[in-house]
Amino acid sequence: MYDVIIVGGGIMGCSSAYHLTKADENLKIAVIERDPSYSMASTTLSMANARIQFSLKENIQISLHALQVLEKFEEEMAVGDNTPFISYRREGNLFLVDESIRNSAEQALTLQKNLGCDVEWWTPEQIKDHFPLYEPKGLIGGTFGPKDGHFDAYSVLMGYRAKAREQGAQFIEDEVAEVLTRQKQVSGVKLVSGKSLSSRTVINCAGPWAREIAGTAGIDLPVYPVKRQIFALDTAVKPESPLPLTIVPSGLYFRTETGGLILLGKSMKEDPVGYNFSWDDKRFMEILWPELAEFVPAFDTLKLVRGWAGLYAENTLDGNAILGEWPELKGFYLANGFSGHGLQQGPAVGRYLCELITGQTPTLDLSIFHAERILENRPLSEHGLV
Ligand SMILES: Cc1cc2nc3c(=O)[nH]c(=O)nc-3n(C[C@H](O)[C@H](O)[C@H](O)COP(=O)(O)OP(=O)(O)OC[C@H]3O[C@@H](n4cnc5c(N)ncnc54)[C@H](O)[C@@H]3O)c2cc1C
Repeated sequence: MYDVIIVGGGIMGCSSAYHLTKADENLKIAVIERDPSYSMASTTLSMANARIQFSLKENIQISLHALQVLEKFEEEMAVGDNTPFISYRREGNLFLVDESIRNSAEQALTLQKNLGCDVEWWTPEQIKDHFPLYEPKGLIGGTFGPKDGHFDAYSVLMGYRAKAREQGAQFIEDEVAEVLTRQKQVSGVKLVSGKSLSSRTVINCAGPWAREIAGTAGIDLPVYPVKRQIFALDTAVKPESPLPLTIVPSGLYFRTETGGLILLGKSMKEDPVGYNFSWDDKRFMEILWPELAEFVPAFDTLKLVRGWAGLYAENTLDGNAILGEWPELKGFYLANGFSGHGLQQGPAVGRYLCELITGQTPTLDLSIFHAERILENRPLSEHGLV
């Protein structure tokens, strides 16, 4: 009998296991992960960016916590002599603003400042001064978060996993076939290997597969896998200094990567729903390159080196996290629907679930994300999604 069974060992599963085993060394925790190579997990296929530039107070607070955790991560996750190296690069995030998004950008900036965030308003001239390759025509300015940055997602994942294991969590390589229930109470999970494990608490951390897991318990979760493609570019002209994650109003985003490359992506309406990891250069050549070259004319000459596709676990109600116990099934907890911003939410979400499950007062009140809103069809409004 386990105290908690966690389905999926991506960032949400490993952070939850870490916090639970840290809170109480006597808790018996199992993390069921079918693919320890994490070849399809969103965590390892992400752009690995953390930013405080959201418009919902709680999303900003979650990211503030992430920035603090990343700062000390290597020290805190050391296991014996083994210290993770997470390559945390605080190169900033620059959200570009045109007239169409002026109001929401100004409101978000005010809120971020009121919450103590380090974020600045830049005029088009300041944008050009900082990044001479940019051509900010049609823009009224941009918001720059200097403390934001990117890191090695795989190392952060391995850091949590190794520490959770050291603290007593058991990682089991298997696949959950079904969440078992008895009279509106979770009773465990059935594994594809044929075994069943008992527990009165199960956390769904299955990322883009969350809907399937919830479905085995009769729950209809509005979380769908949506393919997103990333492109790695070798430009003829190299920027003089690293480029922050730069988000243009159309939703196109890019940043520098180590090795002199640029990483670029854009979420698009026609991105297919399903477990599709195929990658092709067509969209980049036909749509994204011209869009990029308009904003950075010097990037009209480049080589598309490679790329990859990963899945957003898209919450179709409002694009935000779904957290906490499902109101109609006792003991079934959710950490789902993070769409394109879940990696940075891993630290705060793992801590929050641990606090809910162990009956502690949450350090950060994230009840706004509770699952009731799904049943009541009450979407949250967040303007900072990409
Ligand atoms: C292209 C792309 C770019 C992104 N960029 C960013 C970014 O810059 N910043 C950011 O914060 N977020 C970003 N994200 C989002 C972020 O990656 C995710 O929100 C986050 O990683 C979700 O973590 P997770 O643990 O919920 O899911 P995952 O990392 O997908 O982990 C789920 C795990 O569950 C396992 N699993 C599933 N079903 C079962 C089962 N039945 N039995 C056993 N195991 C199972 C899977 O094997 C997988 O390892 C991006 C995502 C993509 C795809």
